[in-house]
Amino acid sequence: MFDCILIANRGEIACRVIRSARALGVRTIAVYSDADAGAAHVALADQAVHIGGPRPADSYLRGDRIIAAALATGAKAIHPGYGFLSENPDFVEAVEAAGLTFIGPSASAIRAMGLKDAAKALMQEAGVPVVPGYMGANQDPEHLAGAADGVGYPVLIKAVAGGGGKGMRLVERPQDFRDALESARGEAATAFGNAAVLIEKYIEQPRHIEVQVFGDGTRAVHLFERDCSLQRRHQKVIEEAPAPGMTEAMRAAMGQAAVRAAEAIGYRGAGTVEFIVDGSKGLRPDGFWFMEMNTRLQVEHPVTELITGVDLVEWQLRVASGEDLPARQEDLAIRGHAFEARLYAEDVPAGFLPATGTLTHLTFPEGARIDSGVRPGDTISPWYDPMIAKVITHGPTRAVALARLRAALEGTQVAGSVTNLAFLGALTRHAGFARGEVDTGLIGRDIASLTAEPPVEDAMVALAALTAAGAGQGGTLEGFALWSPLRQTVTLDLGEKRWNVVLTRTAPNWTLRIGARELEAERRAGTWWIDGTRAPEAALTAPGRVSVFGACIVHFTLPDPLAREGDAGAAAGVVLAPMPGLVKAVFVSKGEAVVKGARLAVLEAMKMEHTLTAGRDGIVAEVLAGAGQQVEAGAALIALEDE
Ligand code: ADP
Repeated sequence: MFDCILIANRGEIACRVIRSARALGVRTIAVYSDADAGAAHVALADQAVHIGGPRPADSYLRGDRIIAAALATGAKAIHPGYGFLSENPDFVEAVEAAGLTFIGPSASAIRAMGLKDAAKALMQEAGVPVVPGYMGANQDPEHLAGAADGVGYPVLIKAVAGGGGKGMRLVERPQDFRDALESARGEAATAFGNAAVLIEKYIEQPRHIEVQVFGDGTRAVHLFERDCSLQRRHQKVIEEAPAPGMTEAMRAAMGQAAVRAAEAIGYRGAGTVEFIVDGSKGLRPDGFWFMEMNTRLQVEHPVTELITGVDLVEWQLRVASGEDLPARQEDLAIRGHAFEARLYAEDVPAGFLPATGTLTHLTFPEGARIDSGVRPGDTISPWYDPMIAKVITHGPTRAVALARLRAALEGTQVAGSVTNLAFLGALTRHAGFARGEVDTGLIGRDIASLTAEPPVEDAMVALAALTAAGAGQGGTLEGFALWSPLRQTVTLDLGEKRWNVVLTRTAPNWTLRIGARELEAERRAGTWWIDGTRAPEAALTAPGRVSVFGACIVHFTLPDPLAREGDAGAAAGVVLAPMPGLVKAVFVSKGEAVVKGARLAVLEAMKMEHTLTAGRDGIVAEVLAGAGQQVEAGAALIALEDE
């Protein structure tokens, strides 16, 4: 075994590799970019080396610097993780030329699977079923159109150098072929510098089922299948193992085909053979076709680990260091069922746009495996994949594993960025998914209901108002007996919606009025009970923001009451404190000219700082409060007069 390895990656996969290496007593070296100086993988590794600027091209793709870092720190091998340099044969050759071990397949195995047409031809030779189609060298449009007719519509045009769904076009009718071909080639030329395409039969109701393989360079075993049919625009969202509805006969056929594929290219290490399956007629041993092989560890490898009990990273390290395959095929068996959901910082209503932000709050429940590369307080930067965590569950049956995934997602608390958490939760409650009726079109068909905003219950609004007011925490509301008004109004916004909640201390309880509705809140053992029902957790997660962590997470914003009422006050010439608080600072003095929007003072109230601005141009006529002074609601703070 190596005594020290370098991980040429970042985020959750770097942390994942470090954990398994450490368990084997292997020292770990991280590398990092400027954007990742404070990142979790840097803190977790035994040592970390800075390799460049935040752009991947300046750091995580700089093979030369990564190899230099390995040599400088005494690392004997490099684990590439996934993405970045993991499937770059030139990097593999450079690593080996430097006298280091690449923890993964040979450069030639990666090259053999690098282009879709060559890979398909190779697989066909090895007796692996491939999707019927044309994958020849003749790229004449006339010839390709003829090939499409021969294959039979609908057909899929794919860039031979493709990846990530780029350069791919579905064509339903012959008369649309020419236009689709032109746009696929244009996209492929731009994205891959290679305009060549192949034509494939389009499989209706396709399912994406892939087989995990593991080789020692000669022999290979398979670790069963994963179903990754739950995709949004060809991007995997939730993966599971085994595949629902899989039969022993089909599993054996797919496993053997995948092993043949791996052995045909002398595969070493962990790899995945992706198949497309025709889901319209049920799973049959003759109903699957090779799509491509990913010559690396995959994002969704944990579901395979949970059903087989194998640590795939441990296997990678052992085989790369020269050990035999750790298990024979007959030693491997499936135990139970596993799911993985990919939690991303992304803006679902805006079309799943990647989001950024500082994760002011981040907790996960017990009982799920969480593979994450961020900690509370860490930032999702715009430079890299916005993954927050993979939430992974296991159970004796599919139903139990899915129920555990739903519970794990409901128990996940994250604030500081928008996320796809509610979308993932909705998927775990999807009736068809629960029945195992998965195909790659499921999300697209039901996107409206999967992304519908959940209703906001009064109890959630009440809880947010109590939290905003600091009630039950020795906050301002407890002090109400000292102030003359015994009630307080908290305004909460959510998108276009606004609530005005009137809180009254009716010791030992609190009464809340939301519109015509009245609710009773009780604080017991550190928890709120609203109308007798235990409320979920809630917290002030950022200035002006209250998050309620219920079955779904709702982030309310607190409109700055001083800005609002300050405006009204300023119009009348006086700026008032609309709630009790502490004056933290006053920025103006008598006689000073101010313009509309100028900062006048800061008031601390509801555990937050509110900046008070001038609602109009004017001269400060009077400063009625000073820093450090506690003021009552309605107290006049600053008077303005016209010039
Ligand atoms: P890429 O390498 O660009 O990701 P793939 O060949 O892996 O492209 O295909 C991506 C996805 O497109 C698959 O997971 C599947 O959902 C769909 N797909 C690919 N080939 C076919 C096909 N012949 N028929 C139907 N759907 C397909």
